[in-house]
Amino acid sequence: MAQTETTELVVVGAGPGGYAAAFDAADRGLAVTLVDESARPGGVCLHRGCIPSKALLHAAKVLTDARDASRWGIGFGPPSIDLAALRGWKTKIVERLTGGLGRLAAQRSVRYVQGRAAFAGPRELAVTPIESGAEVPSRIAFEHAILATGSRPARPGPLALEDARVLDSTAALSLERVPPKLLVVGGGYIGLELGTVYGALGSAVTVVEATSRLLPGADADLGRVIARRFGHLAAAVHLDTTVTELAAGPAGIDVTLDGPSGSAVAERFDAVLVAVGRVPNSGVAGLEGTRVELDPQGYVRVDEGQRTREPSVLAVGDVTGEPLLAHKAFHEARVAVDTITGRDAPSPPRAIPAVVFTDPEVAWCGLTEADALAAGRAVATATFPWGASGRALTLDRPEGITKLVIDPETERILGVGIAGVGAGELIAEGVLAVEQQATASDLASAIHPHPTLSETLTEAADAFFGRSVHLPRPRRPA
Ligand code: NAD
Repeated sequence: MAQTETTELVVVGAGPGGYAAAFDAADRGLAVTLVDESARPGGVCLHRGCIPSKALLHAAKVLTDARDASRWGIGFGPPSIDLAALRGWKTKIVERLTGGLGRLAAQRSVRYVQGRAAFAGPRELAVTPIESGAEVPSRIAFEHAILATGSRPARPGPLALEDARVLDSTAALSLERVPPKLLVVGGGYIGLELGTVYGALGSAVTVVEATSRLLPGADADLGRVIARRFGHLAAAVHLDTTVTELAAGPAGIDVTLDGPSGSAVAERFDAVLVAVGRVPNSGVAGLEGTRVELDPQGYVRVDEGQRTREPSVLAVGDVTGEPLLAHKAFHEARVAVDTITGRDAPSPPRAIPAVVFTDPEVAWCGLTEADALAAGRAVATATFPWGASGRALTLDRPEGITKLVIDPETERILGVGIAGVGAGELIAEGVLAVEQQATASDLASAIHPHPTLSETLTEAADAFFGRSVHLPRPRRPA
């Protein structure tokens, strides 16, 4: 009969927030138990999110780059795609990473328990094994718990149809087949990333987006860069459009679309990917018996030290609210461990980067121009179009832009936005600039290597001062 175990810290959920908290706490000398329903740590990000999607996006980029190479006189034949091999490659990456995490947990003596956790009170969890007969403790008594249970895809209203051809991101990433006609509902992160994958693999992709533009969370000028290229890859993009009905038929999913004209349109698809946001996994059984509070969207309320209203329980990552990003969870995990070990919480981050791994990538951090406008805050912006970047031209990808959002009084860089190939890597310099409160002058005077895309950051700062030699001379000197 499984027994009650006692630990100093139990972490519920072994995604980026949970495993990072468990490992960091163990490194600080705490006895740690990590509970997750999966056999291996990694959470959504490693098993069925960030990592597998990036593998598939890399494959997609190879396909589109090979196609584009014909513009420079290099021709390849039509690609042959072995889906089973592609799946196998993706799975190997996931197994390598999650296996590595398992070894790192063992090396730190973090007790990994595969089970479903429920709160049996503010200092005790009840654990149900996932596999019958598995030896797991039935109860874990703890001094501190960190809730890191993440989020799951939302399937609101008509999108809740139960049919194997209606996919969420997990099902789409399992890459069972390439549907000839794929409808993607939602033109945000997941819709555009997986739309890019399936478009490159050969699906005719239609995207419907409820708002008036793709990637509505990004500044409009950044969003336009991806919208233009995605527009070429996709069969159709319908903006200001929602799905009012999904009906499963023998020949496909019949979809009723409600567009800006107000008249409903019906179309049949082989598969439908629903990517309209995520909802928190805060329905952990027994949580209602503690003082942990949820906000109206179901996110766990936490303070700046990641404490909930129940003194023994902290929470990190997606379950605590937007942005639902692994790197935000990593950061919060450290803050939670600092809180438990009696250190002061660091000041809140000024810049949590967002990266959409489309082709090209779109990335931003700090204050966006749209946020500044919405808050009534006066900002200056400086933009460098990549058409003037030698490196972008050598990559045949001149469509990008690099943009700085600047405080006109102090000339501090408040935000950075980049749309273009490699934007996800380039934004790191923007994060440092915003976090360190660098000024446009700091960025303009730091020598960047030539010819690289990183120069576009310096050039944008030069443009702010009217001194970019690669742009037409400003009419009025700055
Ligand atoms: P999202 O919020 O990025 O995009 C959802 C989109 O769906 C929005 O543009 C929204 O306007 C639209 N929408 C909502 N309801 C709709 C409807 N009924 N019909 C048509 N359109 C509708 O959400 P997501 O793409 O599902 O991703 C969820 C979250 O996961 C993201 O917000 C992000 O935090 C995280 N994520 C991050 C990455 C990354 O970091 N690269 C990748 C994938 C997911």
